[in-house]
Amino acid sequence: MSTRAHSGCGGATVPAGETGGRNALANGLYGGSIGHMGKEVTRRDFVAIAGAAAAGVAAGCATNPTTGRTQFMLVSEAQEVDLDRKAAPHQFSADYGPVQDPGLNSYVGEVGMKLAAVTHRPAMPYSFRVLNSVVVNGYTFPAGSVGLNRGLMVAMGSEAELAAVLGHELGHVNARHAAERMSKNMVAMAMVTGIALYVQKENSEYAALAAGLGGLGANALLCRYSRDDEREADALGMEYMSRAGYGPEGMVSLMDVFRNLHRSKPSAVDLLFSTHPMSDERYETACRLAAGEYAAARGRADSRDRYLDRIGGLLRIRGAIEEMQNAQALLMKKKPAEAEARLKSALRQAPDDYAGLLMMAKCCMAQNRADEAARYADRAKSVYPSEAHALQVSGFAKLSGGRFDAAMVEFEAYETKLPGNENTAFFLGRCLEGMGRRQECVAEYIRYRKQAPAGAYAGYVQNRLVEWGYLKPVSKGR
Ligand SMILES: [Zn+2]
Repeated sequence: MSTRAHSGCGGATVPAGETGGRNALANGLYGGSIGHMGKEVTRRDFVAIAGAAAAGVAAGCATNPTTGRTQFMLVSEAQEVDLDRKAAPHQFSADYGPVQDPGLNSYVGEVGMKLAAVTHRPAMPYSFRVLNSVVVNGYTFPAGSVGLNRGLMVAMGSEAELAAVLGHELGHVNARHAAERMSKNMVAMAMVTGIALYVQKENSEYAALAAGLGGLGANALLCRYSRDDEREADALGMEYMSRAGYGPEGMVSLMDVFRNLHRSKPSAVDLLFSTHPMSDERYETACRLAAGEYAAARGRADSRDRYLDRIGGLLRIRGAIEEMQNAQALLMKKKPAEAEARLKSALRQAPDDYAGLLMMAKCCMAQNRADEAARYADRAKSVYPSEAHALQVSGFAKLSGGRFDAAMVEFEAYETKLPGNENTAFFLGRCLEGMGRRQECVAEYIRYRKQAPAGAYAGYVQNRLVEWGYLKPVSKGR
């Protein structure tokens, strides 16, 4: 199937006489028989989306007032806010939560809000925090929930660079890049499988990663931006930072930080560059704009001392953060024993580091030492009781170690603290299955199927339900 027809504007044309009134997103695909996704359902959902696209407000082609560029847009502002609210807490949790340094979070929040006020969409519900992840990365959700990892914070050296990073992320929000990408994907996926299934699939990829031990967290849910998106976000970032009183040199030196990291520690910035493509061109563009369009704003204070003072808590454990970064790279290369040595060193320097403890738990899991993993996860729980990810990791470790009742307690607490991860139903079901409580197990497996018909554990659940006589085997081909 060609994607050309719907990769630009004019993609969502409605076949004559096929404007269905159903809302594919709300109704989902599981109204029919549990078991298979027939072609009828697929077509009906596509028709519903196409109908919504043709009839809906803010759907189809529109000129983006921020950029003046024509965009193919099926996602409304209210949907951007809704998606942001649902997805962001899971990503922030997987990135080990906000740093337990209220002063640092509020500092980044102040700089962020100063920039947000001068954007094209000042009324969006922006929020800013520093996250405990050591990966050099920063990102935003479509309505402006922004997270900057500790790894990025210690790589930067001034408030002007911080403003450049935040301005760039706000550029993505204001140009509506995530919503635009989603709109294109919605039509492409609706053509193939139906939109509800697409949404489920996105969710399940996220959840599988978050629940699993990949170590990277939930980044599958984050937008992969194109190079054009990056250029646009950089240009907007420059505009916003200069409106907010920062000099353009901040953007130049930020690009220089990234270029140097790319050369000296390429694995440290893999993720950053997978979500924000990077090239020398971006550095050169920043230099050109700083010397040209924004020359008048040059020479403003970069507030280096204030920045270094505010991140003092991070700089004091810089050695530990670097060891965690080394461990992260080794885990990605599937070298858990070597990663463990690095994490031991990190935890010697920062014994109560929530991210360090959880990374160690994952490292033990990767080496089939479930009980030890559970001990590290339980320590992580006690150092940061309000965060949910440690409960999930602890539950996973206990489940892997065959301690079904103990694991169940963790997963129940996790679901209470951070509802909305569909995999939790599966894991609760697995605990109940392990305890021999089949009726309750079946209820959880069916709940999981409903939430994630194409989820990572759908095959396992299907086999169990067939085996126990709750489902008929599905014949192939339909
Ligand atoms: Zn970007």
